[in-house]
Amino acid sequence: MTDSHCHIAGKEFAGDLDAVVERARAAGVSRALVILAAEDDAEIARAATVLAAWPECRFSVGVHPHHARVFESNPQAAADTVAARLDALPAARAIGEIGLDYHYDFSPRSVQHDVFRVQIRLALERDLPIVIHTREAEDDTLRIIREEGQGRLRGVFHCFTGDQAAADRALATGFFLSIPGVATFPKAETLRQAAAAAPGDRLLVETDSPYLAPIPYRGKRNEPAYVAKVVEQLAAVRGVTAGEIGAQTDHNFDRLFRPRRR
Ligand SMILES: [Zn+2]
Ligand SMILES: [Zn+2]
Repeated sequence: MTDSHCHIAGKEFAGDLDAVVERARAAGVSRALVILAAEDDAEIARAATVLAAWPECRFSVGVHPHHARVFESNPQAAADTVAARLDALPAARAIGEIGLDYHYDFSPRSVQHDVFRVQIRLALERDLPIVIHTREAEDDTLRIIREEGQGRLRGVFHCFTGDQAAADRALATGFFLSIPGVATFPKAETLRQAAAAAPGDRLLVETDSPYLAPIPYRGKRNEPAYVAKVVEQLAAVRGVTAGEIGAQTDHNFDRLFRPRRR
């Protein structure tokens, strides 16, 4: 199994990373995509520690919409910062998480748009997939993907929690959907229906650790080992074995986050 989105280079894991990796491996989680905040020097520095503890991990670097405001006076500097991080991180496979968040609105929306757009342009330039964060901003997110994507942008909607109509709109971009532990929550019936109906070759699974721990760990710190609970849930709603979901989502991960040409 692969945890397609986690923040284990964050300070929440600095104290017990080795134990976290050990539990992931024991649960059958062989690797993870570790998200790095491009503007966070401390987190970027811990990427080396993560790679030493878990060499199968790969990275995604980006400026999150929450932090877009850091680049308010010069949005292009966000892309330049990401580009410099990519050059220094051979194990980076993607740009993200990037996108729009109108739930918290921590950055002005026009700045979120600009910072999102310049990072999409960088992704096209580098031929890298993007990891999208979108919250209460679906229409603008899809519009910007279409406007900037030139029909050749690849990526994933991380932490997808919408219904089947939202899944269909997202899938129409050609992107993948990454299903989080939210799918195990009792009230998430519409998400489970969407996850059951989506094409198997477009699904990924994630924890978004340290956030959003699945049942039965809800409310605790999340960690990559728990992606097994998401895989079990997907297997149950799709009527297949957990082994099949694990193999398929591993394969999908390899298709999306393939090695870089340069
Ligand atoms: Zn996110
Ligand atoms: Zn995240």
